[in-house]
Amino acid sequence: MDAKTIKLAVFGQPVAHSLSPRIHRAFGEQLGMDVDYRAIEAAADQLEARLDEFRANGGTGANLTVPLKEQALRLCAQVDVAARQSRAVNTLMLVNDGWHGYNTDGAGFLLDLDRLGIELADRRILVIGAGGATAGILPSMLEREPHSVCLLNRTAERAERLSDKFSHRGNVNAGALEEGPEEEDFDLLVQSTSAGHAGALPAINRAWLATSATVYDLNYGNAHQALARWARAHELPCHDGLGMLVGQAALAFEIWTGQQLEMSPVLEALHREAKDC
Ligand code: NDP
Repeated sequence: MDAKTIKLAVFGQPVAHSLSPRIHRAFGEQLGMDVDYRAIEAAADQLEARLDEFRANGGTGANLTVPLKEQALRLCAQVDVAARQSRAVNTLMLVNDGWHGYNTDGAGFLLDLDRLGIELADRRILVIGAGGATAGILPSMLEREPHSVCLLNRTAERAERLSDKFSHRGNVNAGALEEGPEEEDFDLLVQSTSAGHAGALPAINRAWLATSATVYDLNYGNAHQALARWARAHELPCHDGLGMLVGQAALAFEIWTGQQLEMSPVLEALHREAKDC
């Protein structure tokens, strides 16, 4: 490994399944850069020590995944607006005074919607789930001035907290998933729960959606399959979250290196592999 090698890593628990090492190595190849990107297992109470070790070994940039995104906030010397608003950091960059934290999930989500030609302006959007991922994408969603955003969550209070926090930015309302939305005719369903990791599907109802509605799942791979089947059964166009994953990664890579990337070759390779499985 020479002095020009960029040492990067994703921290999380579990992290062994993460596609981030593959994506960032592919980005490095695309730009002719020598990238050493590893997956490092860390529980929330181990993050600070693991980051210190990583930094001592020459690490200069990192991604964070579950359960570390909120925990990382207090370890940052500075955070960007997106990380502050969502109270979650998914990207760290080492700058003189320490780690600077960013959240590229919301911008990555918008990049993917743009790639897919999914409009948000004036649309009625239904979001299922109110965890860290929803907190990350909601401010970006509202920037596009949708007609309304309805947040439904198994634990209603979590959705209500998010709705209260962002209601000054647009027409956001919240409720309990089991009670369903107060209105119907949604143009876009965004599935942002982790239920798919257990093969489950949140209790969603086709009648909530407009005839021409589109479904976007933040999940991909096996975790996307239950919703993909549901959407097929109801003849709704459905997209997985691989494009968002590659989008947020491309934006993180740009923060670390200042270089812009071509997302599509990496995304196409991941989709080809997903089909071969
Ligand atoms: P969190 O753990 O913060 O939140 C999980 C959410 O899922 C909560 O709203 C939770 O509800 C809900 N949930 C879990 N199980 C069920 C169930 N059986 N029925 C209904 N709701 C359920 O996770 P994140 O918000 O960080 O991530 C959500 C998903 O998005 C994950 O699967 C993650 O992999 C994916 N993701 C994808 C990204 C991408 O780039 N494509 C980026 C970030 C996340 P409750 O509050 O009631 O517990």
